[in-house]
Amino acid sequence: MQKPDTVLAHAGRSPEDHSGMVNTPVFRTSTVIFPTIEEYETHRDISQKPVSYGRHGTPTTFAFEDAVAKLEGAHQAVALPNGLSAIVVALLAVLKPGQHLLMPDSAYSPARGFCDRRLVPLGIEVEYYDPLIGGGIAKLLRENTGAVFCESPGSLTFEMQDIPAIAAAAHARDIPVLADNTWVTPYFASPFELGIDISIHAGTKYIGGHSDLMIGVVTTNERYWKPVRQTVYDYGYSVSPDDCYQALRGLRTIGVRLKQQMQNALKVARWLEAQPEVSRVLFPALESDPGHALWKRDYRGASGLFSVVFKAIDDAAVARFANALKLFGIGSSWGGFESLITVVHAAAYRTATRWQPEGPAVRLHIGLEDPDDLIADLKHGLQELVADRAGANG
Ligand SMILES: *Cc1c(COP(=O)(O)O)cnc(C)c1O
Repeated sequence: MQKPDTVLAHAGRSPEDHSGMVNTPVFRTSTVIFPTIEEYETHRDISQKPVSYGRHGTPTTFAFEDAVAKLEGAHQAVALPNGLSAIVVALLAVLKPGQHLLMPDSAYSPARGFCDRRLVPLGIEVEYYDPLIGGGIAKLLRENTGAVFCESPGSLTFEMQDIPAIAAAAHARDIPVLADNTWVTPYFASPFELGIDISIHAGTKYIGGHSDLMIGVVTTNERYWKPVRQTVYDYGYSVSPDDCYQALRGLRTIGVRLKQQMQNALKVARWLEAQPEVSRVLFPALESDPGHALWKRDYRGASGLFSVVFKAIDDAAVARFANALKLFGIGSSWGGFESLITVVHAAAYRTATRWQPEGPAVRLHIGLEDPDDLIADLKHGLQELVADRAGANG
């Protein structure tokens, strides 16, 4: 088997089919025409990815999907318009009315929204579970459990899940395991070897990698490919070939970007950990993180996204800290080349567990800037925070 960096350079392209061009071009089409009716009729099985109609994908779409599938060790992949629609498709592909779904309490909150507002009215019972449950999930499995969903580490709070233990329990009852693997990316993990059946990525993040693209992708093992592909067909999702082209262009460099971003993030996280205003840094790649052993066992690396819990300070102090930063943009999403900060609001929506940090928390995305400059910027932010606090007390 080729190593991930080699796969990244070669997967999803066939110059011999495109006049020698290194990259698969952007194919824009709705209609595809055939020389005979007989030939047209042989292009019906969408699970085989025929070039048959624009909505079902073009060579550009398939090049992107093929590269992601090869990188992650999947049977097949399908592109979706964004990460949330990838979650929606994966869940709808396996669940039926009357079934029970297990969702981690740390799941990406719009995924919770879809479950609570859309799946529940369809007659699916959604139960949230402690993301740290591990093999204990066996006790929550029921006769009618239709899927176990995982997200490791969890959104905002970064709990690592024991995926192999969860998958072993679910598979003992023939229940599929789905995982949102956006944080670890297809580059740093082989989810199918860990026991995941359907893997979900917000390609908007590191696959696109340049904060200019919305895309999602679902990859599956052989068993779940047809139901996933059929669900995409039935709900009518399609992705423009231009977006697939950009996503594949981003994917080519995910290895070099991620290795650098992980290194930068570790340097910044270690510095933050040592600051008196900081209580904890939630980043599984840090030795101090409770999920470090699982991270090391199951993943090959970490992305540059983590949260920082402050000691007990008021929210206004956190806002002063964030507002003082010059190199960290304030805004949603992550995975681009640039650093970002948002305030973490993770306590309000939890239902199965309580998240009670010592103080307020922020989520940082560490980009490709020089980490020393990022540290200098954060140091300045902390000085503002402390200076103002001393002023308020004095
Ligand atoms: C951003 C994100 C998504 C959704 O991706 P979009 O492309 O914004 O729809 C899903 N899961 C996780 C973990 C994310 O961070």
